[in-house]
Amino acid sequence: MNEKELWKKVLQKLEPLIKKQYFVTWFQNTAITLKEEGVVTIGVPTAFARDWISNRYNVKILQALQELDDEVVDINYEVVPSLTEDDHRKVNIFSFLTKSKKKVRKVAKKKEVHVTTSSGQKIRSKMLNPKYSLDNFVVGKENRLAHAACMAVATNPGQSYNPLFIYGGVGLGKTHLLQGTGNYMIAEDENRVVIYITAERFMTELIECIQKRTVSKFKDKYRNVDCLILDDVQFLAVSEKSQEELFHTFNDLYDSNKQIILSSDRPPKELKGLADRLKSRFEMGMMVDVLAPDYETRLAILKAKCRLHEVILVPEVLDFIAYNVQNSVRELEGVLLQAIAHAQLENSTPTIRTVGSIIKKLNKDSELNDYTDKFNSKRVVRTSDEVLDIVSNYFRIDKGEIIGSSRQRQFMVPRQIAMYLIRKELDLPYETIGQEFGNRNHTTVMHACEAVIKKMKKDEKLVRDLNSIKNEMGM
Ligand code: ADP
Ligand code: MG
Repeated sequence: MNEKELWKKVLQKLEPLIKKQYFVTWFQNTAITLKEEGVVTIGVPTAFARDWISNRYNVKILQALQELDDEVVDINYEVVPSLTEDDHRKVNIFSFLTKSKKKVRKVAKKKEVHVTTSSGQKIRSKMLNPKYSLDNFVVGKENRLAHAACMAVATNPGQSYNPLFIYGGVGLGKTHLLQGTGNYMIAEDENRVVIYITAERFMTELIECIQKRTVSKFKDKYRNVDCLILDDVQFLAVSEKSQEELFHTFNDLYDSNKQIILSSDRPPKELKGLADRLKSRFEMGMMVDVLAPDYETRLAILKAKCRLHEVILVPEVLDFIAYNVQNSVRELEGVLLQAIAHAQLENSTPTIRTVGSIIKKLNKDSELNDYTDKFNSKRVVRTSDEVLDIVSNYFRIDKGEIIGSSRQRQFMVPRQIAMYLIRKELDLPYETIGQEFGNRNHTTVMHACEAVIKKMKKDEKLVRDLNSIKNEMGM
């Protein structure tokens, strides 16, 4: 069995164990690049991919390899950027993925909601997006009540609060809650008919039906549902005719105990151009607001999104984002995803500095809090003490331990890196550096710098660490 065949067999073993989307993301551009004396070297396209794969799948890969070839004792990873392009060593994972892909599509189809009209005609409703669930909604004090109300409605549609009216600013999770509620209802009973539609779209559809004189079709469609979800009702058109139609639809559903869920950016009272009788209908069930999340909730949301996207960020960076992105969850998510993408491109981990510039770009006029001066102005590190601060912070160890004499690897490596950076970036003499590191001899510093330079040639993680630290230093 050659290396390519071996890797293909390994991937075929892994494939059923890993969620499809992750499998494709992480393994499509991988290959065995070397097999020597029982050590298999796996080529991956980026340092980022290497970290994820080795952190999460190392054991599974080794097991699979050993089942296929009992000579294998260990694995290594190597970053080979050219693997993103055509590379003859790569395995075409899609050749054995196809079957399961079809299956996925079938399941998804089943989830589509169909509404049968009295004339027996099937109309596909607006699909609910399965990515929104009540489970993956992070609950904090600002949205606790809204989430609880949705939960009550989802488990007892038409019985608890009708209508349920959720209001609050943009990007605070209204659509997520509405869709999550719909998804819950369908998961409980697949025969339930749930329609999710934005108010704007609802009105356009209605107006079209009025023009084409097919209002009865419209009535059939919307009055035969178990739950009607109307998102963003602040965009309901002002036309009298359409409001009247909505009013009747509302009454019919309500009278037959069908659930109605509405969302808006403001409470019903403040909806302009809406007939009073509609406003009072909207108000007669449960009204609940969602507020902008506070720091704690923002941090919890960021952590949840990191789990969802299977990424790990250092606590300081999460903190920094939570501290600075305050207005909406959508923005919070946006910054996080950009930071991840950025890090992938630059082959480094997201740092406060990179995240800071992403936030700045998004909100040109807002000032960053707290870390602004320290990290975001074009400040360049000038003293060895500052380098020590950054390096110790990066590796989460005490400054004293970098300067100290412990020969444990966790202190040795940061110490060498700090010496190397002070020498290279600040250009201090070896003697001076030695003095700053507990009066060491200048040859010790020289050796440390040489060791770093030598290691950089084969240690991708070291290069990535250096890149990130230099970034923090403003280099
Ligand atoms: P709105 O409809 O209020 O404008 P969305 O529901 O579209 O806001 O939310 C924007 C983004 O933020 C979505 O991706 C959503 O999943 C996410 N989001 C908002 N609130 C939460 C939360 N509490 N937990 C998890 N994700 C959230
Ligand atoms: Mg929305």
